[in-house]
Amino acid sequence: MYKNMWPIFLFIALSLILSGCYSEPLEANKVTDEHPVVKKESTIEEIRQELMNKYGGMIPLEWGEKVQGVKTYINTNEKIIALTFDACGGPNGIGYDDQLMDFLQEEQVPATLFINGRWIDANETIFRQLAINPLFEIENHGTLHQPLSVTGNDAYGIEGTLSIEEAINEVLLNQNKIAEITGKKPKFFRSGTAFYDEITVQIVEDLGGKAVNYNVLGDAGATYSKEQVKQALLQSTPGSIVLLHMNQPGSETGEGVMMAVPQLKKMGYRFVKLEEWNQLLL
Ligand SMILES: [Zn+2]
Repeated sequence: MYKNMWPIFLFIALSLILSGCYSEPLEANKVTDEHPVVKKESTIEEIRQELMNKYGGMIPLEWGEKVQGVKTYINTNEKIIALTFDACGGPNGIGYDDQLMDFLQEEQVPATLFINGRWIDANETIFRQLAINPLFEIENHGTLHQPLSVTGNDAYGIEGTLSIEEAINEVLLNQNKIAEITGKKPKFFRSGTAFYDEITVQIVEDLGGKAVNYNVLGDAGATYSKEQVKQALLQSTPGSIVLLHMNQPGSETGEGVMMAVPQLKKMGYRFVKLEEWNQLLL
């Protein structure tokens, strides 16, 4: 009788495949690069439509640097510190602190670099050199360096993105630019000014990233003296993420980092890139 039933089995199998019900079994907790909203083949227009359907009409309740979903440290007892350096771009932000960056290379200090699209345009040769250096990890610091809002909230006098569509552009255009140049899609995003509402934090995740800020304010927008930078860095605890800048060669950020790094090493700390600790970000 089984002999007579094989066409039925075949029919069922074919139906499942054609209806899309059949798929590879998922491993438990498997981490994939693919995000539900953004498929590899999605056009920017389809992504916009999808996120408009998901969030259109919703009013965010939070606004700030530490809103729900923003990662601020690595959840570990190991004596590690993630130094993160922003390159903001724009009229006063396209500089390159070569003394600081040379120091990191001489001392073999790994670091995560959050780079804005305008900075890349102004420093493409340097950008390409940094991107191929295994000591550094390139992440996304936005297209136009705007606070990330769906309603036009501002921070420090800088107007945020006005809508879901503008928030998508702020994340996705620079994400794509970095991926095209480096061949590697950024995993993390930090908005200009580090401000978000909780909806835009979700949008960052829908676009395949994570919003990452800090728990140690390293140079306060490159305004700290070297002594203040050093003292800030020495406040680090296991798993700290430190926010600093690599685009202000006239600031004292570099000197402060150079003073603090040897002391932190003596205290038993080592420096790490964020991507190596992605799963423990909180
Ligand atoms: Zn910035």
